[in-house]
Amino acid sequence: MKYRDLNIQTQREAPNNARTEGFSFLVRAGYLSRENVPTQLGTHTLDHLRILSSDPSILDTLTLPAIGNEDETFFAIASGQIDVAHCPNCQYTERLELAQFKKVPFPKEDELPLEKVLTPDCHTIEALADFLGMPKEKTAKALMYTQPNDNKFIFVVVRGDMQLSEAKLKKQVGDVRAATVEEIERSGAAVGYASPIGLKDSLIVVDDLILQSQNLVAGANEPGYHLKNTNYGRDYSAEIVADLVQARSGDACKNCGSSLSVISTICLAAHKEYDVQNILLALADAHHDSKGLTLPYPGAPFDVYLMHLPGKEIDTRAKSGELYGSLEGAGLSVLFDDRDERAGVKFNDADLIGCPIRVTIGEKALKEGMVELKPRKEKDNQLVPIETITERIISLLK
Ligand SMILES: [Zn+2]
Repeated sequence: MKYRDLNIQTQREAPNNARTEGFSFLVRAGYLSRENVPTQLGTHTLDHLRILSSDPSILDTLTLPAIGNEDETFFAIASGQIDVAHCPNCQYTERLELAQFKKVPFPKEDELPLEKVLTPDCHTIEALADFLGMPKEKTAKALMYTQPNDNKFIFVVVRGDMQLSEAKLKKQVGDVRAATVEEIERSGAAVGYASPIGLKDSLIVVDDLILQSQNLVAGANEPGYHLKNTNYGRDYSAEIVADLVQARSGDACKNCGSSLSVISTICLAAHKEYDVQNILLALADAHHDSKGLTLPYPGAPFDVYLMHLPGKEIDTRAKSGELYGSLEGAGLSVLFDDRDERAGVKFNDADLIGCPIRVTIGEKALKEGMVELKPRKEKDNQLVPIETITERIISLLK
């Protein structure tokens, strides 16, 4: 294709909304608008990636460092909106809200008798732990929901130092919404001082670690009071016991025990469906240098960036037009920069756009029957006889 037909507009400056260099270069090279909308060049590239993605090994072909599991593949990037837990040792990877980890219970204690204590103004786990002078790990956190379809009240218990994952809860009980004060009180619980002990008409759901945690502080279902030494099994039981809490950075991998990392990512593929716009963003992030994109074959929209330097005696543009025809005839895809711009402008644009190979036709070399070839990732260029340039390019790409 010809540069002017694609209406490519490159930019000197990085867009001020760029959170990653890859995005910045996609905008500067004219693949995307600042608003992340594909241009003509961008649309052409996405179509190209869509064709490549019919091959299930596309991500290996593009040398993209991806992480994932059977269902989803992710790419780590600072601007990513999806947090995943990842084990650098065994490669376990899961969306953070669904990630499992090895829970470490405290040493088993003998069950102590229940003890009701006055705990004024202890509306949060932090305030309660401070007031009683004990760690948050020794408290039971209560969360209350209602199932929207049948208004069933759901009482959830997790250890006080952990966060409930609503995604994990929903896997157990279906959709939920926050319970109203009226619904909480109807069950027999007290807002801010709630526990599962003695509730009626409630579905009680507890995190599995609660079964191995003795003598926890929980609400007394009476304003201003808590109970010390509540114990699962003796004081209450649950309809559902499951993993309900969210993993954190540093938690132990459930497979190998190594520390999990939490990483910002974008999703490249879900259930074998590829997201080509995210693949383009990942490609740009993984493949660039200080001058622009360095897209790998065959991920680049074109194999060759062909340009001419205007001559005084020879019509270099016409010569380039001939070479363009023969390269395309040989099955290579070519972006022909047919503009009569200064050499520096065209070299800069070629570096920004990042095709694997640049071929330049200039008068001086052409008089010797040579053209200039420069792989994008190499520093120096080389002169190649024009009659062997096609084979040379093909051998460099494959
Ligand atoms: Zn692991």
